[in-house]
Amino acid sequence: MIEKKNFNWSNWAGNHSCLAENYFEPETEAQIIEVVRFAVKHHKKIRVVGSGHSFSPIAVSNEILVSLKNYRKLIAVGNNSIRCQGGMYLHELYSILKENKLSLPDFGVINKQTVAGALATGALTTPAVTALVSGVGLVGERPTTSCEGDEKQYARPGE
Ligand SMILES: Cc1cc2nc3c(=O)[nH]c(=O)nc-3n(C[C@H](O)[C@H](O)[C@H](O)COP(=O)(O)OP(=O)(O)OC[C@H]3O[C@@H](n4cnc5c(N)ncnc54)[C@H](O)[C@@H]3O)c2cc1C
Repeated sequence: MIEKKNFNWSNWAGNHSCLAENYFEPETEAQIIEVVRFAVKHHKKIRVVGSGHSFSPIAVSNEILVSLKNYRKLIAVGNNSIRCQGGMYLHELYSILKENKLSLPDFGVINKQTVAGALATGALTTPAVTALVSGVGLVGERPTTSCEGDEKQYARPGE
């Protein structure tokens, strides 16, 4: 996992920047969990950054900044769905959808954003891309006294 200290980050437009005390580029779920445990241990907050295409300062952090640029693989293609890692770029998603004769109902102006970034901001499509999601995997701090990183899978009811 790539790890940097005092990392200078700025968004795509260059109108927001920050100096993150710790910056990580995890490649696996195990490494993401490791980052969450690091944050818990050091009482630091985590902010995940996608492509940094948001114009607002929603992705900036002076504490822990995590980029999923190396966590963007296709996991599985289903009958009418695909499962991918959150850092996948939309242009990669569009190519995979096309190869499998699938599509989104609508597309945004640009395709450089990440799947997770678009979901987190409700960006891009009508209906919102969030309405097309049948499940997500999240890594978070377990609400117990052990405070270890933990991964959970969530699905819409009935799916
Ligand atoms: C030229 C241009 C054109 C645009 N056109 C459109 C448009 O037509 N329609 C539209 O709706 N928007 C548009 N946008 C806005 C942009 O598409 C959205 O802001 C998009 O969400 C950015 O995605 P990102 O991957 O860059 O996320 P970022 O900007 O990097 O992050 C967005 C938010 O998602 C969070 N996040 C990212 N990844 C994760 C993760 N894995 N887990 C948890 N949280 C995460 C970040 O912390 C942050 O809060 C445009 C932006 C630009 C620069």
